[in-house]
Amino acid sequence: MSIRAKLAWTFILLLIFGITAISSYSIVFIRNFLLEEGEKQILNDTEWLAITIQNLRIDEGFETNLNEAARTSGYRISVYDDEGRLFAEVPYHAQMEAMEQLYPAIRDRLAETDEIKLDNESESNRIRAYSMIDADYNPIRYLQVSILKDQIYEPIKTIRWIIYTGMFISIGLVVLVSILFSRYISRPILQLESAARDIAGGNVDRTLNLDRRDEFGDLATSLNKMAERFRKDNLEIKKMYDKQGQFFADITHEIRNPLHTISGSLEMLQLKELDPKKSEHYLLTAVRQTERISRLFKDLVTLQRYDSDSYFIEKQVFDLSTILSQVIDLYRPEAERKGIELVYKKRSQYVIGDPGKIEQVIDNLLSNAVKYTVEGTIQVDVTVSEPDGDVTVSVKDTGIGISGEHLERLFDRFYRTDKARSRDKGGTGLGLAVVKSILSAHGSDIDVRSTPSKGSEFTFRLPKG
Ligand code: ATP
Ligand code: MG
Repeated sequence: MSIRAKLAWTFILLLIFGITAISSYSIVFIRNFLLEEGEKQILNDTEWLAITIQNLRIDEGFETNLNEAARTSGYRISVYDDEGRLFAEVPYHAQMEAMEQLYPAIRDRLAETDEIKLDNESESNRIRAYSMIDADYNPIRYLQVSILKDQIYEPIKTIRWIIYTGMFISIGLVVLVSILFSRYISRPILQLESAARDIAGGNVDRTLNLDRRDEFGDLATSLNKMAERFRKDNLEIKKMYDKQGQFFADITHEIRNPLHTISGSLEMLQLKELDPKKSEHYLLTAVRQTERISRLFKDLVTLQRYDSDSYFIEKQVFDLSTILSQVIDLYRPEAERKGIELVYKKRSQYVIGDPGKIEQVIDNLLSNAVKYTVEGTIQVDVTVSEPDGDVTVSVKDTGIGISGEHLERLFDRFYRTDKARSRDKGGTGLGLAVVKSILSAHGSDIDVRSTPSKGSEFTFRLPKG
């Protein structure tokens, strides 16, 4: 059974039960009320009938007068003499047998007190009232006034009709309202269910617009947020998938090129009458390319370790100037050969980090600065933001620079702004990816500012030691 049908049936049954119960209770209540009122009325009426009959004379008008009293009061009137014998009974009714003799028990009860007695037995279909009469002009001694209970219940027929008609109209309305209401309640549930099914089926572009300010509205908002989240995750996964594809293509490419060169050089070296100078050249080429492959693998292994092992970094306090001087000294001969000035004012500065890994960061930044600068200066600066701030290291060159469109992907693995030129210079495009990984393992990041054909500046921060 659908949720809508369940809701509708629950409402209908509950309300029908309620309406029927109220109607039945009303009818019982009204019956009892009418009976009580009838009892009070008959007691009242018996009193004045007794007075009227007391003054009647036995003459030719007696029967007419008694009949008139019965007609106007609406009761059946029986009068008895001193012995309890029936004297007269009006109105005459052929089917209704008159009580010829008034029970002695009733006479005795009436004799005890002077009051009017009421007789309303539940199994009897009549209410009766008895009274003694102290008549001067007639032999009447006892009066019995009675009325059919059905006569008292007469008004209930009309009331019952009104109640039943009202009940059927209410039930009809209830059915209608229940169907409409269950529709109103279940519509958002069905919409939510269909949206959830769509989203679960992968249709994450689906949005739900319920326009309700209740719990269903909240649920729809949550569902929309969930779909939004799935959309973002999907995009992220797609990006990662593309990146991974690109990554493998790059590795294959990076290895295939030096392998080609090595196999070419080895083929040349196989030639018998090769001149020693040329053979030395081919040998050197093969060695360089082998080194390049080995460096590539070393970088890849480093990156892989950063990805999988966060304890790869062993932090300690060390003097940054020692490491900077060592690395700068390493690059000084090459810089001098190219006519580039390398500037660094050595000043002791303690920082917290892994000295070996920071050395690799500086090495990679300086290697790039020297590699991508034709003339000018390379300046290394260390500044401290006071009082207990971080230590900022900056490597600034006057090289070829990097245009804006490359900056976003500059730190991606194998990314190079100019593949051919970088490869000529022996680059694999992993240096800056390694730098970024090392610094993020330190809880830091790398910034770059660059103007094409003017120069670049790379900066990173370390906590003061
Ligand atoms: P390697 O893996 O040997 O370092 P690479 O130097 O080509 O190779 P990265 O160090 O990652 O790779 O640098 C990525 C790219 O960013 C370089 O190919 C180069 O195009 C650009 N780049 C990096 N540093 C500079 C710089 N100082 N000036 C200009 N371009 C730079
Ligand atoms: Mg590099």
